[in-house]
Amino acid sequence: MNVILLGPPGAGKGTQARKIVDSYDYEYISTGDMLRKEVQSESELGQIAKSYMNNGDLVPDKYIIEMIVTSLGDLDSKNLIDGFPRNISQAESLDKKLIENKQEISLVLHMYVEDKELISRLSNRAVCVSCQTPYKLKFPDEINEITCINSYCDNSSIKIREDDNPESVARRISVYKEDTFPVVNYYKDLDVNLVDINAHRPEDEIFQEISKFLEV
Ligand code: AMP
Repeated sequence: MNVILLGPPGAGKGTQARKIVDSYDYEYISTGDMLRKEVQSESELGQIAKSYMNNGDLVPDKYIIEMIVTSLGDLDSKNLIDGFPRNISQAESLDKKLIENKQEISLVLHMYVEDKELISRLSNRAVCVSCQTPYKLKFPDEINEITCINSYCDNSSIKIREDDNPESVARRISVYKEDTFPVVNYYKDLDVNLVDINAHRPEDEIFQEISKFLEV
């Protein structure tokens, strides 16, 4: 069973993913989180990916597809996939792999929010250095006052993501429109079960709506 979270940067995919994982039995696969770990550990892939990520561009498909396909192969069949596919070619590769694994996409959650709201959210966002949980800053210095509340993080500090600067945010939104949004229509054309979720609402209200689709 594979659930895909699709939506622009700042739509709240990471926040909803954590709520889904806390309440349902899903393995969370986030290509963004995986890549940030590679960057942190200064691996070969991390060194390649870093400049693409900081500029707000997509990391080339050949690296991403290999990374995600390995994860899908290793995990049980209940996956929550966030940040992938980011373009049609990645969507086609995922289809191919799922057919090989005799799996399918059970649900695509397409979260949508207007650009102005995305920009505002990303300019006030910080993330946990360990588990990447996002936090909304009420004022800039709050970054020094908040630590991660997840018990497994042991009060890790939070920081601003390197790609949450205005230039990179603008680029990520434009890449989303050009490369990723077509994936929504790709799945609609294939009759995949896709639901549009208005993500400009309180987190818990969004989660309640998502839960209805996960429980059918
Ligand atoms: P995210 O955390 O999903 O916002 O991803 C952060 C950055 O990681 C993106 O702006 C891309 O540079 C890179 N990235 C994440 N997932 C992918 C993907 N599926 N394909 C290419 N690049 C990706």
